[in-house]
Amino acid sequence: MQVLQALHSIRTIWTKKVAARLARGEGVRSSFQEEIDRFYDLLLQAVESGDPAWLESLMDGWVNARPESDLEQETGSVPSVLRELLLLFYETSFEGLPPQEALETLGALLPVITHAITYAAAKESQQHVEHVSQQLETARMSLERLDRSKSDFIAIAAHELKTPLTLIEGYTAMLRDSLRTDDAQSKVLLKGIDNGAHRLREIVDDMIDVSLIDNNLLSLNYQPVWLNRLLDIIQHEFHSIIEERRISFTVRNFPGSDEMNFGDSERLYQAFRNLIVNAIKYTPDGGWIEVNGRKLPGFIEVTIQDSGIGIAPEDHLRIFEKFGRIGSVSLHSSGKTKFKGGGPGLGLPITKGIIEAHGGAIWVESEGYDDERYPGSTFHVLLPIRSEPPDDKMARLFKASLQSDGSEMLRYDPSHGSEINH
Ligand code: ADP
Repeated sequence: MQVLQALHSIRTIWTKKVAARLARGEGVRSSFQEEIDRFYDLLLQAVESGDPAWLESLMDGWVNARPESDLEQETGSVPSVLRELLLLFYETSFEGLPPQEALETLGALLPVITHAITYAAAKESQQHVEHVSQQLETARMSLERLDRSKSDFIAIAAHELKTPLTLIEGYTAMLRDSLRTDDAQSKVLLKGIDNGAHRLREIVDDMIDVSLIDNNLLSLNYQPVWLNRLLDIIQHEFHSIIEERRISFTVRNFPGSDEMNFGDSERLYQAFRNLIVNAIKYTPDGGWIEVNGRKLPGFIEVTIQDSGIGIAPEDHLRIFEKFGRIGSVSLHSSGKTKFKGGGPGLGLPITKGIIEAHGGAIWVESEGYDDERYPGSTFHVLLPIRSEPPDDKMARLFKASLQSDGSEMLRYDPSHGSEINH
């Protein structure tokens, strides 16, 4: 066969050109020479048999031999080496063979080398996908480890802070008893310690709640809850602050808010309180807050809307992560209800944990963050309507007491008005 003879005749010169062009350095050259010889033998087999698959096993070997650094930098790819080899075939054929023979030789080589290029490219992209997914898995695992150490840190720090805090609280109480004085200055000093200890207690409690939620240990104590009652208590709790900051605070009497539902009233109080504290904290003096809601099939939706600084869309999910304070908000005081008073960024993750433990959902809607225009934010809370507690034993207990108490227990009618406007 003429093509095979031609290929034999140009072999030595082609091999030399390849070594000079592609294998720099003595050490590389000897092992490279073996590979090139194997390539040439298999190429001859492929041309003779008309089956380009002869080169596939060698291509597998070349693709697998690529070092990891080449994968990361995307250099030294096998298809690009094959393209070089093909170019050298052009050069050698036209230099060493009559033009017609050179064309015929290249015509026979082209489909074989094209097949090898396609095959190697497919293998390389498969290898690349595997490499990238491996990197992603490693990144996911290190993120998981990081999150775990964050949780562990919170749990350990909360535990370690609890003991000295209890000591401070205890000794302050003893100091107050032993002084028994009407000295105004001592009272002020004691009040200062009390306030600091109280704030620290709140932070430690939040840290404990976050680690309970992180470890799925938050247990709910289901009992009858009336949302309007909870909101009423919170509204009264912040009455003087709202007045001081001239905020108009309205709780609407929305459908379902006066109906009995089952939930953990203390935890739900904590969740709504966090949302309302935030609404107060991120609304400027003279702004407004409105709590409203509606009944949906199987759910009750509560919205807490404010005329505050708003939240950028890219932060709508992040604020529910622990320590999810956002960079765009510059916090300038540690007061709990002062405008933009900072906090540790644990309130929303706890709120989300509580709502989700009830089988509900929470999300925020806000046009964006604007410290001058105040576009405001609306937090939505979706809570499942439960006519009995999920726990069987509790359900039997409440059923019996509801039957004996009659239907007046099913609704809560607040005796005082539920709107405070300034
Ligand atoms: P923090 O203790 O910082 O208030 P939270 O978990 O309660 O922590 O809230 C996380 C972040 O979400 C806050 O630092 C604030 O940037 C943002 N945020 C929460 N509620 C509001 C709101 N009503 N308006 C604007 N930003 C809010």
